[in-house]
Amino acid sequence: MPSGDYLWRVNDHAKSIRDIRRHSRLDAEAYDEFSKMMTPMCRFVKPMLSMVPPDPTTLNPKDLKQLHFLLQRFRELSSDERYTLVQLMTMSSADFLDQWFETDVLKATMSASGIIGTFLGIRSPGTAYVLLHHYMGEIDGAFRSWGFSRGGTGAISNAIAGAAREAGVEIRTKAPVGKILTKNGRACGVALQSGEELSANVVSSSVDPHLTFEKFLEPSELPADFLEGVRRYKFRGSSGKVNLALDALPNFKSLPGPGAHLRGAISISPSMEYMERAYDDAKYGRYSRRPYIDMVIPSVTDPSVAPPGKHVLSCFVQYAPYKLAEGTWDDQKKLLATTSSTPSPSMHPTSKTSLSAARSSPRSTSSANLASRRAIFSGRAFPRTTLLPSSRRRLGLLPHTHPQPIYVRLCHAPRRRHHGRQRPHRQPGHP
Ligand SMILES: Cc1cc2nc3c(=O)[nH]c(=O)nc-3n(C[C@H](O)[C@H](O)[C@H](O)COP(=O)(O)OP(=O)(O)OC[C@H]3O[C@@H](n4cnc5c(N)ncnc54)[C@H](O)[C@@H]3O)c2cc1C
Repeated sequence: MPSGDYLWRVNDHAKSIRDIRRHSRLDAEAYDEFSKMMTPMCRFVKPMLSMVPPDPTTLNPKDLKQLHFLLQRFRELSSDERYTLVQLMTMSSADFLDQWFETDVLKATMSASGIIGTFLGIRSPGTAYVLLHHYMGEIDGAFRSWGFSRGGTGAISNAIAGAAREAGVEIRTKAPVGKILTKNGRACGVALQSGEELSANVVSSSVDPHLTFEKFLEPSELPADFLEGVRRYKFRGSSGKVNLALDALPNFKSLPGPGAHLRGAISISPSMEYMERAYDDAKYGRYSRRPYIDMVIPSVTDPSVAPPGKHVLSCFVQYAPYKLAEGTWDDQKKLLATTSSTPSPSMHPTSKTSLSAARSSPRSTSSANLASRRAIFSGRAFPRTTLLPSSRRRLGLLPHTHPQPIYVRLCHAPRRRHHGRQRPHRQPGHP
């Protein structure tokens, strides 16, 4: 924080509450209630993510059955839970959190979950749902959990590849696909850019829908309305990754020296205003001059990913729009790497040797790996696109840009809207 303080949340709930209490007694109390409230919200929404959203305007028995299932579950929620659910589906993460907490830095760091991988700001409606979306991540049933894969992220791909090879799969790399071949309206293989053709009964594509349907297939091979749906599929990469090679561990002024804080995620999100201003840059096609950064040092938990005594610092940086208003990422990525390693001397005072080494290291700049056009969610995570059906049934799961209003009639609001306490006095500039 600019004051030299910090806010530390850990996976021990009681410890997190103790640290929040240093900033606000009211927030420590509300944090407990907030965590309890988010669990039923996750339980309600999570099964819906793997469903084809039912069409509320149809009399198709399958859709009606699904609608009944959803309504039944909605009715099982308490009135407080229903009220919160509607808020999560309609509000911005900043507005949603404003109702619960008063500490700016707590709201800022929590609201970051509402924008990760999303081309929206913390004050944009819809981001409260994205916040919930990130709560749904789990490890072994524990919501809101993240982990490192031993050997780095590539170890996961290698494990999948190893299992596939063991099952008899032949994997070919450096063999870009040029076209998907079709016969009688069915995919029957692929043509590589080298000209080689491979036939297959099933073609499964993990590249984005634009490449798959617009580049690999001829427009005449697809129904016109389906193709139109693909063209309107929202796809805006908003974030980037900057990987730094460090000579030594970072040393933070607020928590000097090594410690448990270096084993988790370190978030540079000092205030709500800072977060929204980061988005202001992106709106006009620039990467954030003062970005939101979520950094991890995987070499602390897994020394195998760096040479002995050295470290890697992986920064998730937002915003880094795929389409820049000026210049190209080839000439801007070095600047993004520099910006990300020094957001502000007062709040990111790492050991000078480690970061200067990182900045001058060719590895640090050449590894600034920018999000491609593909967004983290391979599309847009948004209440409407995630949970509502598309306007035309033939488009199936593809989200659309047609503005469908959601009519919500609230008969009554639950009594305990501010957790049984007076709404705390807001800081100037806050709603
Ligand atoms: C900035 C950023 C940060 C992220 N952070 C995390 C995180 O912390 N944790 C997490 O779990 N997930 C994270 N993700 C999401 C994660 O990276 C994706 O979910 C995952 O990579 C998707 O894997 P995939 O195989 O479906 O697609 P991709 O990884 O996109 O793989 C598609 C592959 O197809 C290849 N390809 C493209 N064109 C052709 C062609 N013509 N022929 C053949 N091959 C082609 C591409 O080169 C690519 O290798 C992040 C994503 C981004 C952008």
